[in-house]
Parts: sequence; structure tokens; C-alpha cells
Amino acid sequence: SQEESPYHVAMVPTPGMGHLIPMVELAKRLVLQHNFLVTFIISSDGSPMEPQRQVLRSLPNSISAVFLPPVSFEDLPDDVKIETRITLSLTRSISSLRETLKVLTESTRLVALVVDLFGTEVFIVAKEFGILPYMFFLSTAMVLSSVFYLPELDQKYPCEYRDLPEPIQLPGCVPIHGHDLMDPVQDRKNEAYKWTFHLAKQYPLAAGIMVNSFMDLEAGAFNALMESKPGLRPPVYPVGPLIQTGSTGNHECLKWLDDQPSGSVVFVCFGSGGTLSHEQLNELALGLEMSGQRFLWVARSPHEKAANAAYFSVKSMKDPFDFLPEGFLDRTKGVGLVLTSWAPQIQVLSHSSTGGFLSHCGWNSVLESIVHGVPIIAWPLYAEQKMNAVLLTDGLKVSLRVKVNENGLVGREDIAKYARELIEGEEGKLLRNKMRVLKDGAADALSQHGSSIKSLAKVAELWKNPENNTD
Ligand code: UDP
Repeated sequence: SQEESPYHVAMVPTPGMGHLIPMVELAKRLVLQHNFLVTFIISSDGSPMEPQRQVLRSLPNSISAVFLPPVSFEDLPDDVKIETRITLSLTRSISSLRETLKVLTESTRLVALVVDLFGTEVFIVAKEFGILPYMFFLSTAMVLSSVFYLPELDQKYPCEYRDLPEPIQLPGCVPIHGHDLMDPVQDRKNEAYKWTFHLAKQYPLAAGIMVNSFMDLEAGAFNALMESKPGLRPPVYPVGPLIQTGSTGNHECLKWLDDQPSGSVVFVCFGSGGTLSHEQLNELALGLEMSGQRFLWVARSPHEKAANAAYFSVKSMKDPFDFLPEGFLDRTKGVGLVLTSWAPQIQVLSHSSTGGFLSHCGWNSVLESIVHGVPIIAWPLYAEQKMNAVLLTDGLKVSLRVKVNENGLVGREDIAKYARELIEGEEGKLLRNKMRVLKDGAADALSQHGSSIKSLAKVAELWKNPENNTD
């Protein structure tokens, strides 16, 4: 009977591998440590889903996936914000999602539904079916706090946040300048602002919010978020760092790393979607060359328009390398290795030759760097990456943050300086030591009686005995 069948959880990630992968890791823990069944319900805009399918295929049997029929974005203007596209891929799938949930609730013991940070529209549907609506927030407690406080900030300040002379103080967080807040709140007239505001108002509808961060990393922010605010804020559970596990392979770059001295290589990678302008890419190439440091660079062909141009189609468009400065590959031969579109990042970060990470500060990349104790050169591009850079640089002191010059570029001399400082300098040594402390903290959080393990167990318990839910 249903009463004795295993507890079942539905997970509804929004598009983007950066959303799917941590949710898969959460699912694995629920299945292996708490005996749940998990079903992923995946929406799409019709773009190729092969990478997603691949991730979902290699999982334990207790995790399955349902792919919803693709929705159309043909009516959207070309310049629509990525956040809007992500949200719409879900809202336009609501009726097929409802059908799927109907089938699942009729045939299994479905107790909870988990969405990511863009998935709040689905809360209402969960409630229709009597299922607990939860969120897995795939960024920091600091970013979560900025979402909760957005209505308050909106009232408090009449101007654009970037024009505020003083930094903003979110409870328990490192002070942050308005221009470093996440992209969608940078222009109050844009529809992305209204969406974010709308999302913020929906967050309190969650029965609980799990966060892919950990207590030691953001104690101040978590403590502030955990102060009880019934009706205003649901309970918050730090459950991270959950990063991809089980990826293997023997990519050529790992063999190259084997031949480099310990801690000598700067790994340069802007995530799955980050792209630079042609001019900026040129500066970066010449800066790396000038630094004299060893580097492993995942270089995508440049894009003039948006820093997230590759988001929906991970692969680089152009022929490899024709965008690099002339003679660059010859001059840096042996010192640097350039890849065209994808590196096995976690394996690179865990390699002993890797001494630093020039990163766009996507939160998954940051967590991976922390787990492997690699200090960072923070070069944020879009989304909430500047907030992450502030946390890393001003708060945790494990990164150098790049400065953009009067031409709107990060200059080659500066890039060379950062790379040298990180690998050879005194400051680099301090950052590395701090990062090692965080690495230990991350391992502790996920050890047998660690803080994140305990808070996930609390959530699992609530799902099995919802009557204990005090809300
Ligand atoms: N990644 C990778 N190889 C690459 C680029 C990215 O393995 O060449 C992985 C990286 O390890 C991380 C994810 O893709 O798990 C990127 O997520 P993140 O949140 O850092 O950035 P996003 O891609 O969402 O901007």
C-alpha cells in the first residue's frame, strides 16, 4: 500500500547545468542517506538536453526523470534577460507539470517538491496537491538575504542601488556596494527587477529553504536568516557544499598538469556560460603571457553583446583559437595550455599542480575551489557573481578581485600582477592559507556529525513526519 511505500520527493530544476548538478547531488544524499525516491521533472525551451540527460542517466535507480514537453520562446524579444527566460521555461510548463504531479501523487507517496531559486511559481501547484514546497537555494546565504530584504531596500532607497554612496548592510553579511548587488536588481525599470521583486514576495511561501553553503562559511548571514520570523521567512537549512561527484576521465589537460610543478598553474575558466569581448579576451591572453606563470585556460570565442552569451548552448561557436592574439599559442607553448570549450574543472581544481583559479565566481565554481582549497582571482561577470566576489574578497579574504579600468577592461598588466601575486606573492600565500581553513570547514560540514549533514537530516525528518512541522 502507499502507506508502506518509500517517501518520494519531486525535484524541479530550472534550465542550466549549474542548477541541475547540485540538485542531483542533493537527490543522491536523500536517496542514499534517507531512503527517499526522487523524481526529477525537467522543463525545457527545446534546446538540446543531451548534457542533462547524461547527468540523469548515470544515477542510482531510486532517482528517475520526467521530461516535460518543450515550451516556445518565439514570442520573446531578443534582448530578454536570461532570468526571465529561465523563469518562463517553468511558468509555461505549469499545466504539464500539474499532470505529472497528479500521476505521481496518485501512484506514490509524494511528500515534498523542491525547486531552485527561480522556481517559486511552482509552490502553489505543490500546495494544490498537499505536498510541501521547498527550495534549494543554489547560491549563498548572503544572496538569499538580499532577496528577502529586497522589498525593504526597495522602500528604503528611492534611487538605483548602484548610485548609493554608502555600502548596503544586509544582516550578518559583509557590507556591499549597490553596484555589486545581483544584475536583475541593477535597473528598477527592467522587467527583471519586477520579476525578482515578485520572486522575493513568493519566497515566504516555501515550507523551508535549503542553501548550498555551510555554517562555517557564512555564520553571520545564516544566524541572521535563522532568527525566527514567522510568516516572513521560512526556516533556512545550510546543506552544502554539494558539488558534482563521480565524474571521471583522463582529459589531455590532466596529463599536462601532471608535468607541471606543484601549485604552479593558474586555472582560468568562466563557467559554462561566461564569455568576454574580443578586446577583453586579448588583454587576458597578453596578461597571462606577461605574468610568466603557467596557466590552463578554457577560452571560449569572444562575444560582444552579453557576458552570458553561451548560457543556453554550452559549446563555443567558432573555430578554435582563431580569436587569440597572433603568435600567442607559439609564444606560450609549454607554459600554458588553452582548451576550446570545456575542462574537467573539478579534477583540475583537485590536481596538486593547480595553484590558483581565475574564476567568474559562479557559485558552483566557488564551492569547488573551496572544497579543494584553491585561492581565487575573482572576475565576476553576471548574475549574482559580484556578490560572490565581495564575499570571497572582503568577507572571507580568499581571493584577489580584478579591477576594471577607465576603458571598461581588466588590463593586461593588472592580470599579470594578479597571477604572479596569487602563485608567488606573499598575499597569495595568505589567501591560500585562509582557503585551506575553509577547505577543512567544508569537509567538517559534510562529515558524519557535520552541520550540513545534520540540517539535511532535519529536513528529511520533517518530510517523513510533516506533522512535526511547526509552521
Ligand atoms: N564546468 C566545467 N568545465 C568547464 C566549465 C564549467 O566542469 O570548462 C563546470 C564547473 O565545474 C561547475 C559548473 O560547470 O560545476 C559551472 O557552474 P558555476 O555555478 O560555476 O557557473 P555557471 O556556469 O552557472 O555560470
